[in-house]
Amino acid sequence: MDADFGHAGAMETAPDVDVQPRPSVRQGVTRFASEAAGRLSVSGRPRHPQRRTRIVATIGPASDAPETLRALAAAGMDVARVTLAHGSVGEAIARVRALRSAAPEVGILADLPGPKIRTAPFAEGGVVLAAGAELKLVPGSTAHGSTAEEIAVAADEVVHALEEGDHVALGDGGVSLLVLGTVPGGVMARVRSGGRLQGRPGVTAPARSMQLTTPTADDLVRLEALVAEGIDLVAVSFVRSRADMERARAAAGPGGPMLVAKIETREGVDELDGILEVADGVMVARGDLGVRVPLEDVPHHQKHIIRAGVRFGRPVITATQMLESMINAPVPTRAEVTDVANAVLDGTSAVMLSAETAVGVDPVNVVATMARIVARTEEDFDYVAWGDSLGAQQVSGPASSPARITAAITGAAWRAAVEQDAAAIIACTRSGATARAISRYRPSMPVVATTPSPRTQRQLTVSWGIETLGVPEAESTDDVVWFAVKRVVEAGYARSGDVVVVLAGSPDAAVPVADTLRLVRVG
Ligand code: PEP
Repeated sequence: MDADFGHAGAMETAPDVDVQPRPSVRQGVTRFASEAAGRLSVSGRPRHPQRRTRIVATIGPASDAPETLRALAAAGMDVARVTLAHGSVGEAIARVRALRSAAPEVGILADLPGPKIRTAPFAEGGVVLAAGAELKLVPGSTAHGSTAEEIAVAADEVVHALEEGDHVALGDGGVSLLVLGTVPGGVMARVRSGGRLQGRPGVTAPARSMQLTTPTADDLVRLEALVAEGIDLVAVSFVRSRADMERARAAAGPGGPMLVAKIETREGVDELDGILEVADGVMVARGDLGVRVPLEDVPHHQKHIIRAGVRFGRPVITATQMLESMINAPVPTRAEVTDVANAVLDGTSAVMLSAETAVGVDPVNVVATMARIVARTEEDFDYVAWGDSLGAQQVSGPASSPARITAAITGAAWRAAVEQDAAAIIACTRSGATARAISRYRPSMPVVATTPSPRTQRQLTVSWGIETLGVPEAESTDDVVWFAVKRVVEAGYARSGDVVVVLAGSPDAAVPVADTLRLVRVG
């Protein structure tokens, strides 16, 4: 989406880096010599990434405390998700600020609820509905809360449109109802499959009764406040077409957050390529998707969405019920462990936790457990076969467009890194686009994005396998490469004798683009 070295957002202050004179750098395999390289030859290469697939954790009442946020980050939370489905935008922004102060290195993903319809709240602890029981559905405006006998739907028109024979799903589809007919003040329904309902579960009714325009007018108001807050990433729910994402993009404005399209309807799956052309990332939102398509189709959609996201060079988040039993239990089920591992093997960029960390009994244990599963799975990931199997990145636009140039040069960089057994690939980037483009190859060696933008560092936390380092602004391509290699050697990703592959652009180009590939030998 965004051309590298051309991000329209306001620049933030570059972190302090000890800048030393640059020796002459020649084209080809150039030599890089520094004191740092010498120092590191004593201690070896201290930092090799342990885990490449990222973890997104949803923050809620169980994880709000500053010490819990810090512990979550230490346990492996790369991105914190703040959902706006519950509470006001002011409360969400308070959560964002608390996160920034407790764990400033963590990326923040704000999740717009879209046209999701929920029930009025159940009392603390929820209710259990038994199959065969009968209950009444009533418009939310006529009731304050929901009970096992009378469930209030917070969108009057949905209840008014229900007809005998309609099916209504509650929550992520575990509870389903059959509408028996209208009665004064609502409709009667029979429980087809029972279960526990708590909080404000979502309501899925036949399409004729659901307004599915996204982003909603409320979403746009929330988005405006989030943009003013300088939020890193925003998820847009129930995206069904490219036009939905374009509306969100127009509202976010130039320099706005990265926009992640949540795929949770059949239309979203059908229109995936058009959506990916304009989205910055994509989420396999298995909860709502599993209510709208046959459940047995969900794993196939997951694989399809991940492959399409990778084809377009977009980060992909696989979400919902990954370690669901850990909402209450200290260990996950074997099936859940296998689900997380399979998402990693499918090539997802990130795996997500929802209620497990928002309201679960031990959010830090959940993140630590997920981090262990991911790290173990990655030991068996076939990195070279993955990169070998990829075709060119799918990019629309003319051959000379910045995105097409970046796609071509990152393919060449990956091949060079494999053939040279490079210690690291360095993406010198302002917007993060070059790093995202190389990430799709899932290189086995560390990929380090060097950037003068702290916001880009946080946005890259959702991308597979990208480590980030802050560097100062530079005035020429040679300086960009020099400062980047220096930082990477100082941070321990490469040492004397190693080859690193560097992708860079010209900082003063009229149309900024990463168009330079260099192989540098650390002297
Ligand atoms: C989902 O439906 O899987 C999802 C992630 O969306 P939400 O949690 O916002 O309902």
